[in-house]
Amino acid sequence: MSYSDDEINIDDSDTDQGDIGDECISDDDGIALESHDQNNSEYRENAAPDNEVLNHDSLEAEMKKAIGDVQAVLQVKTGVCRILLHKYKWNKESLLERFYEHPDTTTFLIDAQVIPRHTQTVPPGESECDICCMVSGLSGLACNHRACTPCWRSYLTNKIVDGGQSEIECMAANCKLLIEDEKVMLYIKDPDVIASYRRLIVASYVETNRLLKWCPGVDCGKAVRVGHCEPRLVVCSCGSRFCFSCGNDWHEPVNCRLLKLWMKKCSDDSETSNWINANTKECPKCMITIEKDGGCNHMTCKNTACRFEFCWMCLGPWEPHGSSWYNCNRFDDSVAKTARDAQEVSRANLQRYLFYYNRYMGHQQSLRLEGKLYATVKSKMEQMQTLSMSWIEVQFLRKAVDVLSECRRTLMFTYAFAFYLKRDNNAIIFETNQKDLEMETEQLSGFLERDLDNENLVTLKQKVQDKYRYVEHRRKILLDHCAEGAEQDIWVFNE
Ligand SMILES: [Zn+2]
Ligand SMILES: [Zn+2]
Ligand SMILES: [Zn+2]
Ligand SMILES: [Zn+2]
Ligand SMILES: [Zn+2]
Ligand SMILES: [Zn+2]
Repeated sequence: MSYSDDEINIDDSDTDQGDIGDECISDDDGIALESHDQNNSEYRENAAPDNEVLNHDSLEAEMKKAIGDVQAVLQVKTGVCRILLHKYKWNKESLLERFYEHPDTTTFLIDAQVIPRHTQTVPPGESECDICCMVSGLSGLACNHRACTPCWRSYLTNKIVDGGQSEIECMAANCKLLIEDEKVMLYIKDPDVIASYRRLIVASYVETNRLLKWCPGVDCGKAVRVGHCEPRLVVCSCGSRFCFSCGNDWHEPVNCRLLKLWMKKCSDDSETSNWINANTKECPKCMITIEKDGGCNHMTCKNTACRFEFCWMCLGPWEPHGSSWYNCNRFDDSVAKTARDAQEVSRANLQRYLFYYNRYMGHQQSLRLEGKLYATVKSKMEQMQTLSMSWIEVQFLRKAVDVLSECRRTLMFTYAFAFYLKRDNNAIIFETNQKDLEMETEQLSGFLERDLDNENLVTLKQKVQDKYRYVEHRRKILLDHCAEGAEQDIWVFNE
């Protein structure tokens, strides 16, 4: 049996490997580069962007190189190599390791479920296609599930165009055999579908490779590569700065798992929670949330298993209302008071959430408005250059806005961290650090938004530099404390 016949390469026209795409912009000397203008909310000094950035062509070239390396050893079709690499999550070393544990290529391919264990040969000639019932020459995979060419074509086109799949199983139900690229290319003739397929193959390469991640930047289309898979800050050439592990904005000090919980909570709760606060109460008996939909205070719980009748005003049972001894307006009626206490606990939880949510959103909003601040600062910098300072000498202002952005981002995520944090001594230290950073950040913000014109240049420069250095220092203290705590496993989170 041979697997190296009818070699059809996907496309060899552009094997321009070695082109690693756009390199990251680094800014080690603390002086902003000119390209900063397009992404002026980015702060690069601490970024240490040692990740690689790869565009579509370099990804494809890299993928082909890995396929070529495996093919040189296994001597099978490139399509089979790609399926194998996909199954091994593009870890070439572990694939080859497993290969060498097998007596021969065929056994390895059978174990990897790339070829079926048993194949029976079907005599050539025309027969009826099981799918469309037309009599014609049938073809198929090694599993011998066969169909006519138009049926294969429409099946594959559908999987590629509508399903967005690049690893396509045989069309027979329960047959898990993947169709190699050479076969796909035999059936598909439409250049648009072929182009989609090639894009999907590269996407699949990135998505199954642990060391690669798509940049989440809008219309960016590049991927970043790291040396080790871990939650860390990566920077794309488009300016996006994100967490390699979860793809969100870089979110130190909160970890990926809590951030995910937090964002889910925010998207579930944010719009409704204020409304809930004002317009609903919990049934005093079953605690289901009830909306007041009319003026009448005689409520009946909508939970059919409960149907408790109560008073909206005092939360006491409705039944005694109207009898002479019950006072709806007296605060200490014991039944109603117990109900109100329970209600308070649930309201308190909501209030607590809203507290953290509002602060989180507050910093996010300030971050968005910093584009405006960059513009103000830029004109101030131009003005200073016409007076007495050189271009280099006025860069401290831009740096100050960079620091401000970075601190806002950190503060924003400290509120997600704090929301889940169990209160203990470490949490109190964290809160003190958070309070200090917040206070200093607001002062820096005040300098930049209000005091720019009220100071002489030399004093202004001194003040702003002192302030941003101190704020940076506070930020470092907070983040170091959080990171050390994570290393020593001292943080306790309530989820
Ligand atoms: Zn057919
Ligand atoms: Zn099959
Ligand atoms: Zn990007
Ligand atoms: Zn993350
Ligand atoms: Zn109820
Ligand atoms: Zn009442």
